[in-house]
Amino acid sequence: MKYDVIIIGAGPGGIFSAYELAAKSDLKVAVFEAGHPLEKRRCPIDGKKVKTCIKCPICSIMSGFGGAGAFSDGKYNITNDFGGTLYEHIGKDEALRLMYYVDEINCAHGGAGTTMYSTSGTPLKKICMQNKLMLLSASVRHLGTDINYTVLGNIYEELKDRVDFFFDSPVTKLEVLEPGYRVYCRDQVYEADKCIVSVGRSGSNWMSDVCEQLEIPTKSNRVDIGVRVELPAEIFEHITDELYESKIVYRTEKFEDNVRTFCMNPHGIVVNENTNGIITVNGHSFEADDKKTGNTNFALLVAKHFSVPFSESNNYGESIARLSNMLGGGVIVQRFGDLERGRRSTEKRIEEGSVRPTLMATPGDLSLVLPKRILDGIIEMIYALDKIAPGTANDDTLLYGVEVKFYNMEVEVDDHLETRYPGLYVIGDGSGVTHSLSHASASGVYVAREIIGE
Ligand SMILES: Cc1cc2nc3c(=O)[nH]c(=O)nc-3n(C[C@H](O)[C@H](O)[C@H](O)COP(=O)(O)OP(=O)(O)OC[C@H]3O[C@@H](n4cnc5c(N)ncnc54)[C@H](O)[C@@H]3O)c2cc1C
Repeated sequence: MKYDVIIIGAGPGGIFSAYELAAKSDLKVAVFEAGHPLEKRRCPIDGKKVKTCIKCPICSIMSGFGGAGAFSDGKYNITNDFGGTLYEHIGKDEALRLMYYVDEINCAHGGAGTTMYSTSGTPLKKICMQNKLMLLSASVRHLGTDINYTVLGNIYEELKDRVDFFFDSPVTKLEVLEPGYRVYCRDQVYEADKCIVSVGRSGSNWMSDVCEQLEIPTKSNRVDIGVRVELPAEIFEHITDELYESKIVYRTEKFEDNVRTFCMNPHGIVVNENTNGIITVNGHSFEADDKKTGNTNFALLVAKHFSVPFSESNNYGESIARLSNMLGGGVIVQRFGDLERGRRSTEKRIEEGSVRPTLMATPGDLSLVLPKRILDGIIEMIYALDKIAPGTANDDTLLYGVEVKFYNMEVEVDDHLETRYPGLYVIGDGSGVTHSLSHASASGVYVAREIIGE
């Protein structure tokens, strides 16, 4: 089967490439996706019969139409300050323009009634500075998990007659034909003049095999390690009501490490995440009032980057997550007061606390899992946040561990996001260039326009 463009992966990167190609050209496009169509994506955890991750061969949270973003909180952060380094390739103005374009498309497909928050002009910036905290600048469109799902469904409806989608179809091999590319999938071969690889975090092992086979240079990336904090929503309300998601950075006094908040979910829930069989923690929230909880959660993360003699930053993060899985059978939860007193949390202590956990996790001791330097930084930051949001350092504040943000190795691509093979593009989180919905989607639009010649 012959196409003009083959796209591997139907996450935000792949979808926005397909969208732009379908909207602005007559090119014949195919999208291959390892996971299921959107409506068939189901995580078996129902809180009753299945309470924890059963390690499905294809994780419906990470794979399928919509990619890792499908059940996410749908926070589209429009900024060059975080979420990836796309601007290093395409320039800051173009990166922002494309992120706003993606926002327009999301709004046109069901996201119009949602709120766009912004840090511009907020007095919180000064309050943060006065307390040794730095608030990063961004605008954020919060679709929420439910509207995000609707938007994806609407985009698929529009695309399905113009693009050939192959679901449950992992591409096993990618061959360079000079000219063109051949992909192998479920005993079939498909060829195209151009190929866009957008395999995200879940395709990281496959991506690294492809780079090795095709001798495409790569560089190791960082890993972020930390905990997810859960507390009563009232404590952060003055911040989340104004900004929804605030990215705040703290430089620790002890080690001069940066600790930062990540993925803030007002009135949200804490969830498990399964990356290649390792269970870590994450969080999201819903736009609909009836799904809101009384808690807010966010991550506190410290970045680690290894180079010589050990360069496998992700393996370091995986080993820490494995340790928590070994001790807790999955994610561990601990009261901040118990951590400070050097004792483990128990079911009784959690039950007696005033914060009701939204994730069933094993009460335990995070100091047995997290390296001292990382844990000290997190504790320091909790006290720093307590100054701008009093109550953060309460004994009953819950900490879930571990949260690990794995980054794909950086694939060598030029300013067109093209590899050393003409017409072979690597985009989205799979390239190591982006780590967010906005940046991944913008990278998809960018290469589509490169191909069309816009
Ligand atoms: C629970 C959760 C919440 C999140 N919340 C947010 C948020 O609120 N805001 C934000 O900015 N980011 C969030 N993120 C991150 C965001 O989802 C990712 O940055 C984004 O999805 C990356 O898009 P992508 O297209 O590059 O990759 P992905 O979304 O990972 O998509 C890649 C796709 O490729 C497929 N694939 C992999 N290998 C192959 C293969 N060999 N053949 C065929 N298909 C393959 C995968 O199945 C997957 O569907 C969240 C992530 C998670 C897991």
